[in-house]
Amino acid sequence: MKKILVLDDDKLVLASVDKILKKEGYLTELAQSAQEALEKAQAQEFDLVISDIRMPGKNGVEAVREIRRLFDEKMKKDIPIIFITGYAEIGDELKAENIGEIILKPFDLQRLLITVREYL
Ligand SMILES: [Mg+2]
Repeated sequence: MKKILVLDDDKLVLASVDKILKKEGYLTELAQSAQEALEKAQAQEFDLVISDIRMPGKNGVEAVREIRRLFDEKMKKDIPIIFITGYAEIGDELKAENIGEIILKPFDLQRLLITVREYL
């Protein structure tokens, strides 16, 4: 079973993404902050990360960079990333940096699922 780490400071986003992923048969772990996500990434292995960008404290891009570095050291694996963000400009910037796929909020859960399936 594939396991997905979902990071977003918005509880409602976490709950709705969690629900649809579980319904599709994926295992999930939820994190409301970068710190929480990093702790989970240290303790467990994941097949994919879905992350918000704008969050209080460390943002999603920084969090994902650290998570990737961690998995690269631990598993020698390049983990796929899907960012969900309300900020189109940041999205464009990220695309240029080639870190991960970008889905703009308010996002369509079906569209998110299609993107997840492309990677897993
Ligand atoms: Mg946010």
